[in-house]
Amino acid sequence: MQLDEGKQDYPILIIGGGVAGITAALDLGNLGQRVHLIEIDHWLGGQVSNLDKLYPTDHCAFCPLWTEIKKCREHPYITVHTCTSVKELKEEGILKKVTFVTHPPVIDEEKCVFCGHCVGVCPVEKDLVTLDDQVNSDHAICMTRDHVYPPAYTINEDVCTKCALCEEICPTGAINLRRTDEESTLIVKNVIWATGFGEADLSELNEFGSGTHPDIMTSMEFEEWISETGPNKGSVKKKSNLEVPIEIAFVQCAGARDKRMFPYCSAVCCMHALKQAHWVKKRSPQTKCTIFFTDLRTVGKNYYKYAQQSIVAGHLKLVRGRPGLILPLPEKEGLGIKYENTMTQKAEIRRFDMVVLNGALKPSIRELKPEQRDRLSLDHWGFVKEGGDSISNFACGFSLAPADVMESVIQGSAAAWDVIQKSRPER
Ligand SMILES: Cc1cc2nc3c(=O)[nH]c(=O)nc-3n(C[C@H](O)[C@H](O)[C@H](O)COP(=O)(O)OP(=O)(O)OC[C@H]3O[C@@H](n4cnc5c(N)ncnc54)[C@H](O)[C@@H]3O)c2cc1C
Repeated sequence: MQLDEGKQDYPILIIGGGVAGITAALDLGNLGQRVHLIEIDHWLGGQVSNLDKLYPTDHCAFCPLWTEIKKCREHPYITVHTCTSVKELKEEGILKKVTFVTHPPVIDEEKCVFCGHCVGVCPVEKDLVTLDDQVNSDHAICMTRDHVYPPAYTINEDVCTKCALCEEICPTGAINLRRTDEESTLIVKNVIWATGFGEADLSELNEFGSGTHPDIMTSMEFEEWISETGPNKGSVKKKSNLEVPIEIAFVQCAGARDKRMFPYCSAVCCMHALKQAHWVKKRSPQTKCTIFFTDLRTVGKNYYKYAQQSIVAGHLKLVRGRPGLILPLPEKEGLGIKYENTMTQKAEIRRFDMVVLNGALKPSIRELKPEQRDRLSLDHWGFVKEGGDSISNFACGFSLAPADVMESVIQGSAAAWDVIQKSRPER
């Protein structure tokens, strides 16, 4: 399928449908510029759709996102392609030609009316009877995500047995287990990268004990684990035995500001540690939180005030120091942390029930083939070098540099404005 061929008003392509990409798309669409927004996941929203509360207001993360996603989906100038990735991107004179592949979801979200009949009939779901099954297993049919717009179910194709009972029972014919990939090409004026970030694997830095114990979690895992829309519906529990944790440690700069991994500051972790810790205290008053920090960075309007309030309201204990060892203790006694308190210069060891590792965030352009990646202008860590070449000319959000929601949104608008300015014909 060839889209938009021959038309003079070429669209802008945005790759990545997180808050940065959504903002850029809406700003461009509102200016009357046609936009194609490509998102690799089933839903728009990016990492923010995985968040619980948002600093610095403590509002539910999804509420503001939901309305922006709806506007984007219904905008006459914006075409959204979910479950889609870029196969090839090349210059065609002053224009760009993009080839992209859509892997249509087995359950068509436009037709799904969210009745749940398919969940009831699925034999895999019926097998998930024990608590362990439910905690550890990926369900075959699950909601795309709580609060996602449009609300719909999706099928985990790795777990699905292809019995097709769901196809038969679906009252709207939304399910088709035989859908195949569709390839499309598009000529665009310019490309905005908004591909965001992911968490890096910390297991190569042995001292953090990443992957050695279920109660040592990454920040995104923990955010989902305690989230009101997460598996525990907002209760604070240990992952190992679902008991209430008494002591939780938040370890800042784990992998960040560290020459062995990422020398840069991930910019969002001090604030989200304060947020997570004070929400832990709100939901589980008996739990005590300690934050091990290097410098507590709270840069942004009202951020310092938020930090002060969180520290007081959450009765948070702050320890200046970088732990040198995190180790599961014998006899299921929890986790030991060895560190130097750099305020007192004393080496100390403390016991915790859970440890949250914060900091190892890296830019991510998912599923981009190495040959495509090589053609982009990226810095050493994979951040887009804006203006580096004509294909990576515009970028916003975490794909450009570590940024929180406020910053990503501002950058989304800035990229939209920039692309309009630079796409004008020469006078
Ligand atoms: C634990 C944690 C808590 C946080 N809490 C807060 C908070 O309370 N307040 C706050 O302001 N900030 C918070 N942040 C930061 C916030 O998550 C980011 O600022 C925000 O997600 C950046 O948005 P983005 O659009 O740049 O990137 P992302 O949210 O990462 O979105 C990028 C999108 O691009 C898509 N994508 C990637 N590659 C491709 C590809 N090749 N093709 C198509 N699509 C692709 C991804 O699937 C994703 O949907 C937190 C971060 C963490 C880690």
